Amino acid sequence: MLKVLKFGGTSMADATQYRKIRDIVRSDPTRRVVVVSAAGKRTSEDNKITDLLYLCHAHLQYGVSVDSIFDMVKDRYFEIRAELGLKTDLESEFAALRKKMDKGISREELVSRGEYFSALLMADYLGFEFIDASRWLFFHYDGTIDQERSYAALRQQLGQKCAVVPGFYGLMPDGKIRTLTRGGSDITGALAAAALDADVYENWTDVSGILMADPRIVENPRAIERATYSELRQLSYSGAQVLHEMTVFPVREKNIPLNIRNTNEPDHPGTMVCEEFRESREPHRFVTGIAGKKDYSIVTISKKGMAGAVGTLRAMVEVFEKNTVPICYTPTGIDVISMVVPTEKLAPHQYSVTEDLRKAIHPDSIKIVEGISIIAVVGRKMAYRAGTSGKIFAALGEKGINIRMISQGPDELNILVGVDNKDYADTVRVLYNAFVK
Ligand code: ASP
Repeated sequence: MLKVLKFGGTSMADATQYRKIRDIVRSDPTRRVVVVSAAGKRTSEDNKITDLLYLCHAHLQYGVSVDSIFDMVKDRYFEIRAELGLKTDLESEFAALRKKMDKGISREELVSRGEYFSALLMADYLGFEFIDASRWLFFHYDGTIDQERSYAALRQQLGQKCAVVPGFYGLMPDGKIRTLTRGGSDITGALAAAALDADVYENWTDVSGILMADPRIVENPRAIERATYSELRQLSYSGAQVLHEMTVFPVREKNIPLNIRNTNEPDHPGTMVCEEFRESREPHRFVTGIAGKKDYSIVTISKKGMAGAVGTLRAMVEVFEKNTVPICYTPTGIDVISMVVPTEKLAPHQYSVTEDLRKAIHPDSIKIVEGISIIAVVGRKMAYRAGTSGKIFAALGEKGINIRMISQGPDELNILVGVDNKDYADTVRVLYNAFVK
């Protein structure tokens, strides 16, 4: 039995958190591999070490003194070391880094050092081996992960030992450090779990599982007890912010259960995510969670006779592809097709997208509406259940919220509602009250 644990930034923020982690790890001898983030915020006004390191790099680039920010980074780790009574040699590590910074360090290498220092300290504190991510997490030249090589390397280096591994970065074929996207330590943890065929991947954070709705909008939302990988993927894609949205893939490939836990409330079971659950009893609640994001644009094309014509959708999609604008959703009507895209991604290409669509499709009209929020109601138990959409319409209608778009996934796992940005928070609240409370 082997468990891989990942601790996020707030779990790694100071010595008190390190102590909690040690208790968690020691309470179960199968918790043998620990992946860590850089130190995060201790309070809401505090800084994340990764953000400070990005700032350091910007200062270096503009030739502005970096000392005061770099000292903030150093101080945080020295403080943790002192409070825990450790002897980790941070002095020479920081001196070597400083030298590299003066010579011209890459941005990715510099910002990866938060995880590196966290892992050095944590390995020392737990008495575990330190396995640097640059010794096992390998990228291909195109930036994708070389899973086969990485998995074999980690398996070989871990053997029967216990280890701490820094999250967030790995090595390119040319020997340079490369980081994952922000929040990427979640992915490192998932990759480590997959590499080692772990029995469970425990992702420790500062909430007791995935919440059924955004706590900044809904007061005290319930935590989700159980979710399938597909539901989790839908919730994170739609905007739920517990995990990096790419976390699911490596663990799902190996069917490793993912358990989201709270470092500050270790007895809480958190959320368990699996491929499927055996559910015999009739559920009293059939919505798993509600998530959403603001600031989409809807590009709508109308053309008489378009429905049933061959190739129009392909031509539309090609225009977006050529302009590198990702399409998030595609609701269609009769002789009308809409593409829902992030406004931020469309804005720089809006003119050429419109022109290209005109040339490719010769539509009767092209309409672009900005300021749209998309909210997803996700639930595996919604399938084959009549009345969910009706309930959504009724609940929103009653509150006077105008639905700009509605779309149900063919797998009946989610229903998407598009509303004006100004109605976003109200919509989430109304849906939560209608389906969860
Ligand atoms: N430290 C990195 C970030 O802030 C990665 C992580 O914490 O997962 O994005």
